[in-house]
Amino acid sequence: MCGIVGVSGPEHAAELAFLGLYALQHRGQEAAGICAVEDGQARLRREDGLVMEGFDDAAMQELRGRVALGHTRYSTAGGEGLVNAQPIVVRYHSGELALVHNGNLTNAQSLREELVREGALFRATVDSEVIVHLIARSRRANPDEQVHEALSRLTGAFSLLITIGDTLYAARDPWGYRPLVLGRLPDGWVLASETCALDLVRAEFVREVEPGEVLKIQDGELIPLPGLGRAARVQPCIFELVYFARPDSKVWGETVDRARREFGRQLAREHPVEADCVFSVPDSSNSAALGFSEESGIPFELALIRNHYVGRTFIHPTQAGRDFRVRIKYNPVREVIEGKRVVVVDDSLVRGTTSQGLVSLIREAGAKEVHFRVASPPVRSPCFYGIDMPTREELIGARLSVEEIRRKLDVDSLGYLSLEGMLGAVNGGRPFCTACFSGDYEAPLVDLERGLPVQAHC
Ligand code: AMP
Repeated sequence: MCGIVGVSGPEHAAELAFLGLYALQHRGQEAAGICAVEDGQARLRREDGLVMEGFDDAAMQELRGRVALGHTRYSTAGGEGLVNAQPIVVRYHSGELALVHNGNLTNAQSLREELVREGALFRATVDSEVIVHLIARSRRANPDEQVHEALSRLTGAFSLLITIGDTLYAARDPWGYRPLVLGRLPDGWVLASETCALDLVRAEFVREVEPGEVLKIQDGELIPLPGLGRAARVQPCIFELVYFARPDSKVWGETVDRARREFGRQLAREHPVEADCVFSVPDSSNSAALGFSEESGIPFELALIRNHYVGRTFIHPTQAGRDFRVRIKYNPVREVIEGKRVVVVDDSLVRGTTSQGLVSLIREAGAKEVHFRVASPPVRSPCFYGIDMPTREELIGARLSVEEIRRKLDVDSLGYLSLEGMLGAVNGGRPFCTACFSGDYEAPLVDLERGLPVQAHC
């Protein structure tokens, strides 16, 4: 879970990368990095925390050049620290190379073992560093072929932006797990995880980078390179639509808000209830709760107020922090809730800790009945393709039945959207990765099968 952006063409590319990161802040709040390339020379700045905190005017002045990469980092425990932040920048025989990665490789540890045996030295623990080594060690004649050879060895999820000298490369894994879109500027090109970043820099949306596609931008020209092949079953991540992407973005050809509304509508059809009002857990389930209200006719209310100065509860890496943060983050509007039969719509249940905290807040505010509705199926399996999910043991949907969860949450009724209902609500039933709900993993889990430690970082 990271946000990436790449810019090529405009005089001060880093400014646009900075704005792009601002729009992608929701994809990672642990660290941000920008690298700008001028005459083949890369300048890098990486800072802990939010984009707006790390890059003042003076910092931006340093980041000169017509090519830039940016990254917002989400880290899990163990992977923190600036050493693991991106862009990664190295000098190798073909020039300066910078790389940003969103996704998770499923063979990173296997490749790393092999590279270490051959003498490679690693500075960080993130799997993205493996890619840099593979490019640098390639015996191919030119950077285009070195990149191609390196990427061909990767399994799992990667949306990648790479610069070698002043050339920008963009690529997506053959399954197409994570998003990457291409935008046009009057004087260049932008690539970004989500279209909301294109909107902010006033770039015109051109298209998604296709699964397995490799593109190169050089001297203002967009050049398709030989691809990595397209998987027989492409696997765009449905969790981007459920929770991760911004509702104003278009992901997998869907406006995220529309998809979430459909999830909410379908949820209302599958789990109807008699109630006085419906509300969301802001902001991630706003659209789904609106859909539920539209379909059921139950009035939509703003009953939970979110403190916007607290980050996403889940995004804090320690469990203690997460429990505590529910109360700091949400406060109920007593007048809306008191004496009412309420429907709370959330986008997903992962550990279940947020919802337990929320239900007790709602009960304390005097709700007569609390009906909990979840606009996705139970999360039962970890993600190895780039969404940070806890281990199976920590997933409430993997440990308990729906009835047991209902009791644990202390709600009058609980209803999850079905997998079929969710898939039917988006884009005519085309394939998606639903591994976190279904346990169906399409790209081989190479490291896991070899018993190697699997790192979910980005
Ligand atoms: P919990 O059930 O307490 O683990 O928290 C679930 C809530 O966190 C959901 O309602 C989402 O809004 C949000 N969430 C779900 N998945 C993730 C994730 N992978 N990373 C961050 N937040 C998430």
